Amino acid sequence: MNIQNLDDGILKRNLYNNHLFIAGPCSVESPEQVMSTALELQELNVPFQVLRGGIWKPRTRPNAFEGIGGKGLAWLKKAGEAVNKPVGTEVATPMHVELCLSHGIDVLWIGARTSANPFAVQAIADALKGVDIPVLVKNPVSPDLSLWIGAIERINNAGVTQLAAIHRGFSTLDSGQYRNQTIWSIPVELKRRLPDLPLICDPSHICGNKTLLKAVSQEALDLLFDGLMVEVHNDPEVALSDKQQQLTPLAFKELVDSLNFKTETTQDASFLKHLTLLREDIDSIDNDIINLLAKRMEKVKKIGHYKQKSNVAVFQPDRWNEILKSRMELGRDKNLSSSFIEKLYQLVHEESFNQQEKI
Ligand code: PEP
Ligand code: MN
Repeated sequence: MNIQNLDDGILKRNLYNNHLFIAGPCSVESPEQVMSTALELQELNVPFQVLRGGIWKPRTRPNAFEGIGGKGLAWLKKAGEAVNKPVGTEVATPMHVELCLSHGIDVLWIGARTSANPFAVQAIADALKGVDIPVLVKNPVSPDLSLWIGAIERINNAGVTQLAAIHRGFSTLDSGQYRNQTIWSIPVELKRRLPDLPLICDPSHICGNKTLLKAVSQEALDLLFDGLMVEVHNDPEVALSDKQQQLTPLAFKELVDSLNFKTETTQDASFLKHLTLLREDIDSIDNDIINLLAKRMEKVKKIGHYKQKSNVAVFQPDRWNEILKSRMELGRDKNLSSSFIEKLYQLVHEESFNQQEKI
């Protein structure tokens, strides 16, 4: 993958603590709304590098506000010019791309519903051929890393090199306290596979409300994300979309001020010494864990042979229930969360099942 690393590209310019901040309303609603949001951000001296605003809104149910449409592009651009910032919006069709380019929109992003659809992404990629505008690719709604990478590749193959990924959470059956579940392991794995690709977090669409925003934003920084995209509206109470999650410019400033920016490492000798010693311990513990898992699998295989000889099913529901229950209790005594032990044993059980099936 060819990802540009230009220091003066929009995605790398005037960063705040080395991070990219994209702020602005969920939807552009009127010339006044987007202008006053931008001006208030500027007056408060909030660090942000790109002004966002949705023009075409993919809504879950019909009859909700579906965006102001193409006429809002000029309002967004004008608000950006007033505060001397590039502007960005979501595109879902080749027509959106063409309109954005003809209105001088500086940054495009592909929304979560669109990046889940390879036909739609390819149509956008085709419309972008020969145009090197920065494109941010949101994760698809489903927790599917390959689909996310596939969307990034399609845009990259069209010749777009100023790329970034946006983590906006995943739609799952039970999203818990979030609108969209964080499942941090997916963006973390994306960063491992594509280390040069800037990774931005959109805590607004993860949280779906204002109360969790700060914690999720900090978690993203702690995971070395390169920036945040946050929905900011001059008057969230009357916003036409996502009013529960939009911040006032002042609340956004407070959020940014509260963030703790960490570095990946330090030259502090005492820190490095402790880290090395503890990591040696962890290496040795991991060695023990793997040896024990291998020993456990040997027993599992022996049981598999007996099951096969006696024509007994590999899956034993009562035993599985008992394992889960007792291991979760053991974990609780050692301060290990039930959900961690549950996930761990689901993996162990799946592998045991696979081993016995192979016999
Ligand atoms: C948005 O950023 O306005 C938006 C619709 O986000 P998503 O595609 O993440 O739902
Ligand atoms: Mn929104």
